[in-house]
Amino acid sequence: MKFEADLLNYLRRGPLVTVLTGAGISAESGVPTFRDAIQGVWHNVSPLELATPQAFQSDPKRVWDWYAYRRELVKQVEPNAGHKALVELAKIVQLTLITQNVDGLHQLAGSHDVIELHGNIRWCRCSETGERFEQWDDTETPPRNPRSGAYLRPDVVWFDERLPANALNAAYDAAKNCEIFLSIGTSSQVYPAADLPKIALAAGATVIEINKSETPLSRKVHHCWRGSASEILSALVAAISSTG
Ligand code: NAD
Repeated sequence: MKFEADLLNYLRRGPLVTVLTGAGISAESGVPTFRDAIQGVWHNVSPLELATPQAFQSDPKRVWDWYAYRRELVKQVEPNAGHKALVELAKIVQLTLITQNVDGLHQLAGSHDVIELHGNIRWCRCSETGERFEQWDDTETPPRNPRSGAYLRPDVVWFDERLPANALNAAYDAAKNCEIFLSIGTSSQVYPAADLPKIALAAGATVIEINKSETPLSRKVHHCWRGSASEILSALVAAISSTG
């Protein structure tokens, strides 16, 4: 992959860079993307059917078991070269990392202060008080919060639910204030995350999309880099780091 010399020089000066990642960056670690999941790779169940508050209300055990299965899947995979390249990029530029992924792979790779728009599947929270837990006693399914007695639920954002306000506001700020915005491995169809590159564009940032396929964002951005997120990000970090 060949990058523009001006852009590489700009990045070497350490600008404010905001990165938004989606399921595509974790695909090469073996985590199915949303489309894969709908096609049934994830236990032959569509997320549209089970990732809802209504589903948890009517059959909490089924929803809990589905997430337990997915949690185990995620625990077996490792961050890939794309996640690791973003850790390296953060040593060169002033990077804010926003993710739609719930797999926690950015943190596992070594990224800090990740803004998680859709929660994290490795955690759960009390369905009444919102208290978060990284570990729980799962002799009962779903487990209960020992303090409130209410069911614990996965700490992820379900369809029809609002995104965590703190994370969303931090993401809006990062989109508004960056000089370069990278949209990586996301179909740019899930809102409000899909607004973020548009906010960056409106604020005058250079917006770059890294994706294997065209998305609704592709025609609006300054650069479209087609291909694998891990390959392109590794090549980008190598190009910035070379004396060029
Ligand atoms: P999506 O599945 O809608 O889109 C994935 C995008 O990544 C597609 O545009 C695809 O072309 C691209 N892609 C696939 N492999 C790629 C690769 N190797 N390199 C570069 N691009 C690649 O995902 P989304 O836009 O993140 O939205 C789906 C929603 O589902 C999100 O809300 C997310 O929270 C959730 N989800 C999360 C995970 C995860 O945590 N890993 C996985 C699936 C879905």
